[in-house]
Amino acid sequence: MMPPTESRKILVTQPVLPPLDAFIPYLEQIWESRQLTNSGPFHQQLEQALRDYLGVSQIALFTNGTLALVTALQALRITGEVITTPYSFVATAHSLLWNGIRPVFVDIDPVTLNLDPDRIEAAITPHTTAIMPVHCYGHPCEVERIQKIADNYGLKVIYDAAHAFGVHGQDGNILNHGDLSVLSFHATKVFNTFEGGAIVCHDAKTKQRIDHLKNFGFVDEVTVVAPGINGKMSEIMAAFGLLQLQGIDAALHKRQTIDARYRAALADVKGITCLPVREGRANYAYFPILVGPEYPLSRDTLYERLREHGIYARRYFYPLISDFPMYRGMPSAAPENLPVAKAAAERVICLPIHPGLSEDQVDLVLRVVVEAD
Ligand SMILES: *Cc1c(COP(=O)(O)O)cnc(C)c1O
Repeated sequence: MMPPTESRKILVTQPVLPPLDAFIPYLEQIWESRQLTNSGPFHQQLEQALRDYLGVSQIALFTNGTLALVTALQALRITGEVITTPYSFVATAHSLLWNGIRPVFVDIDPVTLNLDPDRIEAAITPHTTAIMPVHCYGHPCEVERIQKIADNYGLKVIYDAAHAFGVHGQDGNILNHGDLSVLSFHATKVFNTFEGGAIVCHDAKTKQRIDHLKNFGFVDEVTVVAPGINGKMSEIMAAFGLLQLQGIDAALHKRQTIDARYRAALADVKGITCLPVREGRANYAYFPILVGPEYPLSRDTLYERLREHGIYARRYFYPLISDFPMYRGMPSAAPENLPVAKAAAERVICLPIHPGLSEDQVDLVLRVVVEAD
């Protein structure tokens, strides 16, 4: 049992779980079939269900989002240098290092906090082979402009779409942009399979290459065509995903309600900036605020104040990826190259947002933020 203090904590996010009873029949089927992994029936059903739900033509399931990122880079044979954002979860750049690729950090847009298309061209060198942007907090990148640059220079585009499950841009699903998009189904994400992830691609041939790569490179019992890895999603995760998908629309709706409540209450608070509301379907995965100099408290004092009230907000994304020791020495990681990202990392707090939050809890968060002085 959880100690009572644990249950009073208001966490930045908390996984949605279906009733345990509803999962038992799925487990019974797995026990019956004894197929635990290797593209079993639940794996195939979840791929089909996600193709339908997300409106994408091809999707390959993975055991987590990071292995999906690592494999996406392998699938397109990316080498040399890749342009990416420092303002993300560390796995974005780690997936490059794991492939022996050098990340080249480019600064972000001050409003969307996504990779700034105006700064990409200046970072391209003869070694650049791809761009890896992140739809940060589920806000779509400027996909058209990024694609144009990629086309002009013959670069691939791989989106880290770990935050972007169910997000639509002006022209439909955001996952249909770029060469590949990578999703995460980690426990902290909008749609979870405990751990999990996926690569979205646009043609059957690429999907087949990805499927080979995630299964050691095996094509059949005796043929191995690539130095693949083991990235397969298990049947228990896939079955759980099918059940989770039934509740996803209700979960997104609950998030939307909380987002609206935060926005309304924070609109006139001096020194607090919310990210802009966008057109198209959002997933309300995070609720970042930027704490400016006009606010009576510093960002970190507000962060501590929230904790004193049992509110565990998070400073995503602080520190910047480019400030971690394995990246710090790279020329593109220099703070003067990344002033906008630096400023955002020093100002941001992500307030709790998840379907399990009660109105009272949201009001408590707001009271601490609004009444600070
Ligand atoms: C969560 C996350 C990942 C990693 O996904 P896992 O499924 O946890 O491996 C990668 N990139 C971003 C931006 C993320 O938020």
